[in-house]
Formats: sequence, C-alpha cells, structure tokens
Amino acid sequence: MPTGIVAAEMADRIKITLPDGSQREYESGTTPAEIAASIGKGLAKAALAAKVDGEWADLDRAIDHDATVAIVTADSDEGRHVLRHSTAHVMAQAVTDLYPGAKYAIGPAIADGFYYDFELPDGAHFAEDDLARIEARMQEIVAADQRFEREEVDRDAGLALFADQPYKVEIIERVDPEDSSEVGEGQVISVYRNPRDGDGPFVDLCRGPHVPSTKRLGAFKLTKVAGAYWRGDEHRPMLQRIYGTAWESKAALDAHLHQLEEAERRDHRKLGVELDLFSFPPEIGSGLAVWHPKGGTVRRVMEDYSRQRHEQGGYEFVNSPHITKEDLFQTSGHLEWFAEGMFPPMELDEGTRYYLKPMNCPFHILIYRHTLRSYRELPLRLFEFGSVYRYERSGVVHGLTRVRGMTQDDAHIFCTKEQMPDELHSLLEFVLSLLRDFGLEDFYLELSTKPEGKAIGSDADWAEGTEALRRAADAMDLEVVMDEGGGAFYGPKISVQARDAIGRTWQLSTLQVDFQLPQRFELEYVGTDNERHQPIMIHRALFGAIERFFAILVEHYAGAFPTWLAPVQATVLPVADRHDAYAFRIVDRLKAEGFRAELVDAAADSLGARVRRAKQEKVPYVLVVGDEDADAGTVGVNRRGSDQPERGVAVDEFVAQLAGEVAEKA
Ligand SMILES: [Zn+2]
Ligand SMILES: [Zn+2]
Repeated sequence: MPTGIVAAEMADRIKITLPDGSQREYESGTTPAEIAASIGKGLAKAALAAKVDGEWADLDRAIDHDATVAIVTADSDEGRHVLRHSTAHVMAQAVTDLYPGAKYAIGPAIADGFYYDFELPDGAHFAEDDLARIEARMQEIVAADQRFEREEVDRDAGLALFADQPYKVEIIERVDPEDSSEVGEGQVISVYRNPRDGDGPFVDLCRGPHVPSTKRLGAFKLTKVAGAYWRGDEHRPMLQRIYGTAWESKAALDAHLHQLEEAERRDHRKLGVELDLFSFPPEIGSGLAVWHPKGGTVRRVMEDYSRQRHEQGGYEFVNSPHITKEDLFQTSGHLEWFAEGMFPPMELDEGTRYYLKPMNCPFHILIYRHTLRSYRELPLRLFEFGSVYRYERSGVVHGLTRVRGMTQDDAHIFCTKEQMPDELHSLLEFVLSLLRDFGLEDFYLELSTKPEGKAIGSDADWAEGTEALRRAADAMDLEVVMDEGGGAFYGPKISVQARDAIGRTWQLSTLQVDFQLPQRFELEYVGTDNERHQPIMIHRALFGAIERFFAILVEHYAGAFPTWLAPVQATVLPVADRHDAYAFRIVDRLKAEGFRAELVDAAADSLGARVRRAKQEKVPYVLVVGDEDADAGTVGVNRRGSDQPERGVAVDEFVAQLAGEVAEKA
C-alpha cells in the first residue's frame, strides 16, 4: 500500500483520552455523544454535555483534533449545573410565550437551581401564583422535545437578532471578559435556538453548553419571585427574578424539596420564638441577640461542659476587655486586613481611637508577652469565652448564624515548632470528641491553603504549617477536602465540616496555624539551649461562635434538645389540686439532684392541655402524678416521642434513669 494513502487516513483519525487515562481512536469530526455511545449505552443515556480539553462543549460538537474528553452526566455537580441552566432557558421561553413583550436578561445556574431576570411590559409584576402557570408551560416545552442548537454569529448579526431585547443588546455591546458567561469569547457570539413547531425558534444569547434537548429536563420547581436590579446596580431598572430548583430526577427533586421543608420546620429563628430561647429586639439593633432564660440555660450547659473539657485538656482560662486602642489592631494587622469587618472607631481621651474587638487573638498575645516565657511553659493554651463584634452588612445578617455580636470559645496555643505537629494532632482529636458529645457525628475536614496575593509570611512557613495540618488531618480517618487558596491571610487552617440531621453541611471548628502574629508582636521563649526563639501560635475556635453553634444545634435537633442540654428536663403535672404538694416534692427532689424541673399546677389548665403544651415545648419528660402515685412514691412518665406513658415508675428509678441519660449526653 502506498505510504501516502496511509498518512491521509491517519490524519482523519483522532486520539481521544478519557478521564481514566485510557485512549481510543475515532474518526475526525466525532462528537462527544458518539464517544459516549461507543463506551456504553448507560453513559450515552446519562450524558448531558462534555468537557473537551477542559472546556465545556455540547454533546454534538464535532471534535477534529486529539483531545481529552470527559462526558458530563446528570448525576454530577457539573451535569446538574448544565441541566439547571438549560432549565432557565426553558423558563425564559415559557415567560416570553405567556407574557408577550417580556424582556429577558440573564439566567444562570446557582446552587441547587437557577434563576432568570425578566422585565414585563408596563412594569407588571409576577405574582407567586403565576409560577404554577409558568411551570405548566415549561412542562409543555419539555414534552415538545425541543433541541438546543448552537450557532455562532458575528457581533452585528447578534445585535440584529436581539434588536427587541435591550438587555441582550447591552450584553453584546459590552462584550468583555466579565460577560463571557453570557456570550462566546472574543468577537464570536454564540446563540442557542430551541426550534418549535409553528413558531420561530426561541433564541437566547449564551455561551453554553446545554442539554441536547428539552426532553432531558423536567424535574424542576419554581420556588419564588424577587426583585433584582439589572447588573446589581440600584440606578438601573428593577427586574423580576424567578428562582427555581432543578434536579436529575424526580426523586432527587423530591428529596431536595423535602430538605427545604425540613429546614423551614427546623429554622432556628422560628423555633427560637416558639421555644422562647432568644430574640433580636429592634431597640438593640440588627444582629445583636438577647438570650431568654431557656436559651440562656442551654447556653450555660454548653459553656459549662466546654469549660470542664478545656480544664481537663490543659487550658488556662483568661479574660480580656471588649474594646482596645487602635494601636493594638495596627500591630496585629487587623486594621490593614480586616478593617471592613470592624465597627467604626470611637474617639476618647483627646482623640485616642478605640475599637470594638473583632477577634481575641491580640489580647491573648499580650498575656503571653507579659513575661519572658521558657520552653518549660509550652505549649501554653489560653482559653476565653470572648465576645467579639463584627460589622456585617444588614443584608447578610441572619438569625444567630450571622450576627454582629458573638461569643467565641476561643483559644490560642503557643508552642515550639517541634511541638506543633503533636499539638495539632491532639487538638483535632479534642475538637472532634467535643463535637461528638454535642450529637454531631458526620464530619469531613477541609484544608485551606495560601491565598495567593493576599497572604503575609514566607513560602517556607506556609509550607511547614500546611504540612503539619495535613498530617493531623490524615490521622483522623476522615475525608479531607482541599480548599486551595482558602486560608486566612495569616496562615493555613483546617476546618471541621459537619453534616446535620437533614444532610446540610456546616463549617464548625477551625484550627489555624499562625507564623505571623508571633513575628508582628516579637514573641519569644527561652529554649533548652538558653537562646531566644519564636513560638508558633495556633488559633482555635471549637464552636466557632456560640450563637451560631447553638443555632445549628437547634436545627439539628429540631428544637428537641437531648436531655442533658434541654432547658427543662422534666415537667411535673399534678392531675388535680390535691396532688400539688406531692408534685412539688418531686420537683424539689429533681432540683436537689441537679436536674432542671418545673411544675405546672392544676389551676393552670386541664391535664390534657398541660400535657400538650409540655410536648410542644419539647420537654424530654412529662411526669403526671395522681392519687396512686402520691401513695406509692411513683410518677407516670411520658417520654418525648412516645405515645405510651409508663405508669407507676418509682421516683428513685426515674431519677437514676435521668442521671444516666445526662451522664451519657443522651
Ligand atoms: Zn444558556
Ligand atoms: Zn485568634
């Protein structure tokens, strides 16, 4: 065979490298859809889009060169991103069908869903009950199995195509890197058409990719309408934003909707009112909570237990003031790096500026620096329930999870470089064991590395700190996720992420290595060699902020705190007036044994109503006492969550049971 022909045939073949590293040959012009089909029927069916050499592509994009190709399937984060964004197109088509003259602006995928911004003719607004109508039209579009067809046009053709869509025109006219999510890169503008019977196609300006056809969508729900300024600019028109959620299957959608419902039922802001735990009086100001007796009780139990564990863990307890002269935060770097998170200064004493503290670290450093330390004193672990104040924009303040005033269970550990790895290891064990005592079980760790361009300190310091954290994390037998560039400006950190009862993830404790503050404050210790050395500092908050951790526990337990944390552990209800005296004796006995008990007497309401109210308050035990109990020294025990009261339980027996539960943190 003449060699020339072989060469020509070879040139028509392309080599495709798959994510597992394997390589296959295809004819030039092969599409990701065909590649998926050649691998397997299942993959072809699950495929939504592709990544070719790391770049997004539609499934029907012809590939004419050797490339790496990853098929993106519906059950992956990237696949959900594609189907969510494609669903946004379908929503825009439905809205323009139902509201002739509607202008559509942008419609990206977001966490769990998507949105699209619209302007209705004559300044009309969507109402919540319009959503069902739009959803119904969207389902028709899904059923019509419209293809998503990509076309590349030049700028002028793009402008002509969207002549009656001013927001699209603005995007095309402003083509710059910032807008590359909306249109293709450079001067080529990509549009997607959904051809439809009878009508012309629905066209949107978009970089893609999309699912091959609308039939691949359908597990979605529109969730709410909100106002949103065009380009987030309050001087520009206010558009109508419709939010939706979309998933790869009806089951995944249902699970998500169930989680939202559960999250709403468990919302700590709602339960905080219902269970009388805390409030945010407007007289005090946004993000500043007051704790009511019941919330205050839970908080005290949390703090008491934390204190006890810290004492056992070799921590020293310290205290520091809430305000300080600005020099301290200049030395620490907070005014340079964290000023936007601080309240503005107050001026006292002929112009001296004072700040509310946003962090406790510099205060603990001054305690360390008060005397010359010896290696014999290290590790020195200073602990404080320290109240800090941070300026949060009113838009982001949220219940107890994002507040302007909070108390951290804050510790700073000063140790030698040699001690650092062991100290981090035992710290992480300590943190996880304490979190487990509060009923959280499902963790993973996130390791945050150097934020390039925003960090202080040498590369060598960062590398050493990061490596020590990595070793500590690896020893915990938990999943470790990298958060590249996510460290604080002063050092790398591990954060403990916990999944709650409904599968949501919360960032809890952080362990942060800091080579910088010891330098800024010129900290020293005298080593075994009698020379002076610089200690390492570790910042560590376990609950983070008590306020936030409390909110997470409220939602995790849906307000039904385990017995050891419950504000009231037992409510005693006399059946009738004549049992009051006996009921009082039971309450006194429980209190004397260190339990939290209350009595609601017969004058208050009928027995049934009192039982119901105690159950609504999620009290772990409701004890009902009547004639026979008074004679026999027993109580009727109604355990939370059980419909079967246990009658005639000896008081001693109940006390022992309660003591056992509290001891076990049950
Ligand atoms: Zn699109
Ligand atoms: Zn700190």
